[in-house]
Amino acid sequence: MKRTPIFVNRPILPPLSDLEPLLGEIWQSRILTNGGPLLRRFERALADYLEVAHVSIVSNASLGLVLALRHFGITGEVVTTPFSFVATSHAIRWAGAEPVFADVDERTLNLDPAAVEAAITDRTQAILAVHCYGIPCDTAALADIARRHGLRLIYDAAHAFGVRRAGRPLLAEGDLSVLSLHATKVFNTFEGGAIIAPDAETKAALDRLSNFGIVDEVTITGTGLNTKMSELHAAVGLALLPQADAAIAARNRLAAGYWEALSQIPGLRCLCPPAQAGHNGYAFPILVGDDYPLTRDGLYQRLKAEEIHARRYFYPLIADLPMYRTLPSAAPGRLAVARRAADQVLCLPLYPDLAPADQQRVIEAVRDPQC
Ligand SMILES: *Cc1c(COP(=O)(O)O)cnc(C)c1O
Repeated sequence: MKRTPIFVNRPILPPLSDLEPLLGEIWQSRILTNGGPLLRRFERALADYLEVAHVSIVSNASLGLVLALRHFGITGEVVTTPFSFVATSHAIRWAGAEPVFADVDERTLNLDPAAVEAAITDRTQAILAVHCYGIPCDTAALADIARRHGLRLIYDAAHAFGVRRAGRPLLAEGDLSVLSLHATKVFNTFEGGAIIAPDAETKAALDRLSNFGIVDEVTITGTGLNTKMSELHAAVGLALLPQADAAIAARNRLAAGYWEALSQIPGLRCLCPPAQAGHNGYAFPILVGDDYPLTRDGLYQRLKAEEIHARRYFYPLIADLPMYRTLPSAAPGRLAVARRAADQVLCLPLYPDLAPADQQRVIEAVRDPQC
């Protein structure tokens, strides 16, 4: 019997009936983009939901990261993590700067502050850290390093939608944080992103950079780009925002189920402890160690044979990709923790409407990989 496939992720969508009135507004106004009325409404609603001062909404997080770096004129070295989606380092290159990789912390797989400090040279201008899987970085230590060395601190917060610590939004950390609203993330506008700005002036500067550098009809300041979000995408965001809390709650419930079933299995390490107040359940990464009966790739193939499509996020390590592996910071023997994690990590299927029976199928296949 052929079993139905279970994918690692499945995007959430607004009910069509909630989207239709907003589409009606677009057809009525004939304003399709350029900071139209729906975009402005979505921007306010998103900032309120996230409890941050200002957001500058962009077409995707990759370009949002480029704008954030360009905003500060970063063209030197940027200390960053190799354990992330490739967009993190690509954005540094597109901004005209150069990534310098530092190793990650064993417990969180986020940048290790001591390794960051050791990677700083007189050419370093910024730190670009990632809250991988929505797990918070050591933000206090990174902020302290940035302050002492006069560096900008930017967060790739692509995974951190809605994450709070002690009641405070993680997205408010650093000089700027960049959120992704891509289809595969906790909350989406099909494609999209948002830069969290601490004040209205910074938001206005980012909005200008996002719109060719245009100030008014006759004034253009700076070499801006076009990274605007259309009214269609903003309509999706407005219609979907009321579902965000339920989606996060469902993810956290499923993650707790995985934890309960899998955290005691010899050779497996589950990275995200359950019910951490304020977490968003973005992913359920496991690390497959030597005491498990299969290697990580063995388990990946075994699950695939069962039509369970887990994903090796993040493998290969960014520092091992052809365009980065010749950097001195990517040399063999360095980045030991990140390299081991890339060889051991597997993200299990997790999305708000993952059926309990399907989750059970995943759990059983991981528990008894020899069957
Ligand atoms: C998805 C992702 C990005 C890119 O986001 P887009 O909105 O698709 O450009 C950047 N960084 C990380 C860590 C991601 O997971």
